[in-house]
Amino acid sequence: MPGPIIRKPPCESNAAPNLSDYASVRASFSWETAGRMLSGLPSGAGLNIGYEAVDRHAAGKNADVVALRCLRKSGQIQDCTYTQLHAQTSRFANLLRRLGVGRGERVFSLTGRIPELYITALGTLKNGSVFCPLFSAFGPEPIRLRLAIGEARVLITTEALYLRKIAQLRNSLPKLEYVLIVAGSGRSDIPDTLDFHALLDKADDHFTIPPTDPEDWALLHFTSGTTGQPKAAVHVHAAVLAHHVSALFALDLRGGDIFWCTADPGWVTGTSYGIIAPLTLGATLLIDEEEFDAERWYSVLQDQQVTVWYTAPTAVRMMMKLGINVVQKFDTSSLRFMASVGEPLNPEAVLWGQQAFGLPFHDNWWQTETGGIMIANYAAMDIKPGSMGRPLPGIEAVIVQRRTQGIECIEQPDLPGELALRAGWPSMFRGYLGEEERYRSCFADGWYLSGDLARRDADGYFWFIGRADDMIKSAGHLIGPFEVESAFMEHPAVAEAGVIGKPDPIAGETVKVFIALKPGYAADTLLQRELLGFARQRLGAAVAPKELEFRRSLPKTRSGKIMRRVLKARELGLPEGDTSTLEET
Ligand code: ATP
Ligand code: MG
Repeated sequence: MPGPIIRKPPCESNAAPNLSDYASVRASFSWETAGRMLSGLPSGAGLNIGYEAVDRHAAGKNADVVALRCLRKSGQIQDCTYTQLHAQTSRFANLLRRLGVGRGERVFSLTGRIPELYITALGTLKNGSVFCPLFSAFGPEPIRLRLAIGEARVLITTEALYLRKIAQLRNSLPKLEYVLIVAGSGRSDIPDTLDFHALLDKADDHFTIPPTDPEDWALLHFTSGTTGQPKAAVHVHAAVLAHHVSALFALDLRGGDIFWCTADPGWVTGTSYGIIAPLTLGATLLIDEEEFDAERWYSVLQDQQVTVWYTAPTAVRMMMKLGINVVQKFDTSSLRFMASVGEPLNPEAVLWGQQAFGLPFHDNWWQTETGGIMIANYAAMDIKPGSMGRPLPGIEAVIVQRRTQGIECIEQPDLPGELALRAGWPSMFRGYLGEEERYRSCFADGWYLSGDLARRDADGYFWFIGRADDMIKSAGHLIGPFEVESAFMEHPAVAEAGVIGKPDPIAGETVKVFIALKPGYAADTLLQRELLGFARQRLGAAVAPKELEFRRSLPKTRSGKIMRRVLKARELGLPEGDTSTLEET
């Protein structure tokens, strides 16, 4: 997608980004050498995420730095220094030990973004148990399924969520032994549960992390369910090195930063970058208990003096919908770097960042399975809006075609194919729980096959085309929904666009687009015709949709991704499949 390039100025030495010379760092990078950025457990006892994120700071110069700043729904602001976080997570680890919960056993959370969630995550990791966060808006059945797949032994939840969603499931979850309740106020006395704070208060705040092998299981993450039933990806303690390095390079994050990752820890972004990575760097992690609201978000950026902000395309599109004048009422000049992940970031959105905040959004690409950012736009590198950027140092990415036997790498630039990564980086998933065959089928000839289609240009930038499942074959053309959606996003009336292929006896498939409009535009035939013409001009008649339908909003996963398979199923009157992560609006 040719377009304007955002040139980055030469680095001034006092404000140089962490990665100021991509080519030379990439050429000399090795994961082994990078490992020296971490401490490792004392006396060579291995590598533990909890130690790298918390304990080593509590023992060093960051002891009194605020690790977590929680903006509570009540309006209260709760700060927790690295020293305090160390004590609280040690208490939680002791609490697990007292319950007899040990290495490899699964501790789930189902809460909003409250301090207890972060204590649970890090305390669980320190104990050598496996942390599995669930998104609090899930209904009972998706929760039951995930607890069962993950063989949860412990669940931390709130009183309200327990009564609404868990109590009815207890009988069907024989392996779920302990439910710890975070009470609204005072203590909780719900039968068959334990009170989180009562146990925490009683626990000792000294805890020695047991020897941890870097290959020990640490995290269990369910994928977003955009393409089907969510898969449970297993990650190990070694992943912390990729979290640390990718945040350093791709988010330009460092000690002293006020970092805001808007993703909920129920999704991998909210754990890898909403908990672990910023803490390994000694930054202050901003936690917002409330849900999205553009104006409030701007006030958070302003009042909390956020320096690095990591958000998602849907949020950016919502802000664009509200208009630039609203942003400009706020002082967001503390921001140094903005990034986005989760689905393709339309070029329009990158440029809007520049107008609204004076900084572009830096798109980056990764998956639950990759555990961390793999391809990114870096602070010091020119941006080609619409491109996902270039592979992280230490990551080898190629475009391949699957063959009956193995794969073939496509060397020539600009040809579409499947995005593949050389297997073996530290945060690569180590399995899909209970689905060994499916895991094996993700690899060929030493490469991990992502299931996403992309192309690489002559400068080594990667461009997302679409998920293999969403590609449209129309009259001999392979059409990626992203390209078509981005063309519509250039029109001032369009807030959101979702594109699907519909079976057609002649063309194979035809392209249909669903559009949600910005406020103030009428969904009438005049605008419909104008938009179709607008897209035809940009894309050509072979690629542009023939059909356009207006919707108030588009179906999305709770993590904010457009669910094209749901649009398609509804259009064709087919079963919608797994909709556990669908957010009904
Ligand atoms: P499921 O695997 O259950 O269908 P999912 O793939 O949406 O769900 P995640 O692991 O959360 O679950 O999302 C990873 C996917 O999100 C990527 O494979 C890609 O399709 C999309 N994605 C993430 N970041 C980007 C990006 N910057 N540009 C384009 N697509 C992206
Ligand atoms: Mg996926």
